[in-house]
Amino acid sequence: MSRIKDIRFILKKYTYKRPFCIAYGFVTETENIEIEVITESGIVGYGESAPSFRINGETPEMILALESKVKDMILDKEIRHYREIFNITDKLLSSPSLKAGVQFAVIDALCKECEIDAWEFFGGVKNEIETDRTVSVRSIEDRIEEAIEIYKEGFRIIKIKVGEDLNKDLEAVYEICRNTEGCRYIVDANENYTLKDAVYFVKKLYSNGIDISVFEQPVSRYDIEGLKYVRFNSPFPICADESLKTKYNALKLIKEEAVDMFNIKLMKSGISDAIAIVELAKTANIKLMIGCVSESSIGINQSVQFACGIGCFDFCDLDSHLMLEESDFRGSFRQVGSKILVG
Ligand SMILES: [Mg+2]
Repeated sequence: MSRIKDIRFILKKYTYKRPFCIAYGFVTETENIEIEVITESGIVGYGESAPSFRINGETPEMILALESKVKDMILDKEIRHYREIFNITDKLLSSPSLKAGVQFAVIDALCKECEIDAWEFFGGVKNEIETDRTVSVRSIEDRIEEAIEIYKEGFRIIKIKVGEDLNKDLEAVYEICRNTEGCRYIVDANENYTLKDAVYFVKKLYSNGIDISVFEQPVSRYDIEGLKYVRFNSPFPICADESLKTKYNALKLIKEEAVDMFNIKLMKSGISDAIAIVELAKTANIKLMIGCVSESSIGINQSVQFACGIGCFDFCDLDSHLMLEESDFRGSFRQVGSKILVG
């Protein structure tokens, strides 16, 4: 038995190797909060919160301010009773990235105590996954150059950010596909198309012989009817990202038949809702992707352990650590080109 004796929040700053640009916004640096859960036997479990204002309305200051609240909530709790800790931390409604970091740190401590790996705790289904890499929204030339670079590094799943200018996006997708033969493509509009543009975009790609694997969050997160409309007018599968944070969102999206795929991110859902969403998706025959926000290697480790253990993700978009300058690699996984290995 091992109870939680202390919890520490540590602010970490990371710079992007090059600015990461999505429709109407870009980032050059990120502030993440490392979470340490220390047990009475001296075991330290590590987690990371990567707050996102755009996705969750969170700031690093908000997360740091909750340190004493989290202590009030779970100090003295037994880590083997992790479901009880999940139930308590489900109350962190306005800071899901903190919920993720705390819940994973508890699991990490529990796994260390039981001498198993976290991917085994989550189910041990796979010991290897393949990640994509992401092409930012930039000039058409820069987007092609970045895609070719990714291709030459051996990545065969490419995520293409769109949503700023329909015609430039179409041209960029054509050119990227022409220059990276044999790849699979995830195209992500980050909520920034109108319904009309979204349908025009996919039909235009299809009529030009372009095959994309997934079209992610074409319209506003709140426009569930709109997602459904795009889905039933698209030759390609439609994926919810910003529309999907909690298990309740997942249930609504399933009831409305709005999408073919869910993009689960621990930073939106924590571990507890992510597990529930996986089960809902499997039950409803919805495909799954796992994504990231701006996690460093220690934060991406959380999603790697989860994705390998659960073993049911059709696409893994776990590349934020590859975009950040980091002096020490701190994941419990090995990155070999596009492959991520555990165990
Ligand atoms: Mg997305």
